[in-house]
Amino acid sequence: MSGDKDGVRAGETIRFALKQVLDFALPPRCAGCGTIVADLHSFCPECRTRVEFLGESGCSTCGIPLEATDADTCGFCIAKPPRIGRTRAALAYDELSRSIALRLKHGRKVALARTMARYMAPLVRSDGEPLLVPVPLHRSCLWSRGINQSALVARELAKMTGPRTDPCLLKRVKRTPALKGMSPRQRRKLVAGAFKMKPEADLQGRTIVLVDDVLTTGSTANACARALEQAGAGRVELVSWARVIKPMQLS
Ligand SMILES: [Zn+2]
Ligand SMILES: [Zn+2]
Repeated sequence: MSGDKDGVRAGETIRFALKQVLDFALPPRCAGCGTIVADLHSFCPECRTRVEFLGESGCSTCGIPLEATDADTCGFCIAKPPRIGRTRAALAYDELSRSIALRLKHGRKVALARTMARYMAPLVRSDGEPLLVPVPLHRSCLWSRGINQSALVARELAKMTGPRTDPCLLKRVKRTPALKGMSPRQRRKLVAGAFKMKPEADLQGRTIVLVDDVLTTGSTANACARALEQAGAGRVELVSWARVIKPMQLS
C-alpha cells in the first residue's frame, strides 16, 4: 500500500522539519554537555579541553599518530601506500565523541550533524572538486528519511565546504555483522564485496571524499574505496568524525 507509506513518510518529513525549526529557535547548546554556548554548533570551553582534536596531526597519509620523528609519513604508508590517499578525523574516539555519534545515530538530530560537520569541514580539501560520499549503512538508500547518519553529516559538510554530495552513489549490498571485537583480518574478509556503485556511475578520475562517523580499523572504508576505484575514481580520501586510536578500544 504505497499510499499508506507515503502518508507515513510525509508525517516523518513534517516531524523532521519541525525539529529543524525547533533546533534553530532554541539557544545553541554544547553538543557534549548541553550547556548553553555562545557559538552555534560548537563545544563549550570545558568540553573543548576534554576532547582530543586530531585534525591534521599524525601521518600525512593515514593520520595515525607519529612517534617522535621528523617524517610526515609513517613507515607503513611509505612501504605500501594505502588505497585511501588521505585519512583525517576530527577527534579521537572517546566517551564524548562516541556519545555524540550515537545520539546522531539514534536521535537523528540535525544540530548534532552540523556540529560534527563543523569540526570536520576544515579537513575537507576542496581542490579538484571532490565528491562527498557517505559510507552507506543500509541495503537501500534511505537518505531522504535521514536514517544514515553519515549521509546527514555529509549533507551538512557539503553546505559548509562547497563540494557536492551523492548520498546514493555507494550501496551496501551485503549485510555484515557488527565488526566489534574482530581482528583486522576478519573485518576485511567480512566487508569484502559489501559495497556496490550505482550502476550508471562513472567517476572518471574524480576525487572522492568518503564521510564516516567512527573510524576503527578502516576495513569498511577500504572496501568502499575499492568499489570507488573500480568505478574509475582517481583518488579516495576519508574524513571521519572520530577515530579509534588505541586498538584496545575496539573490544
Ligand atoms: Zn560542553
Ligand atoms: Zn601512514
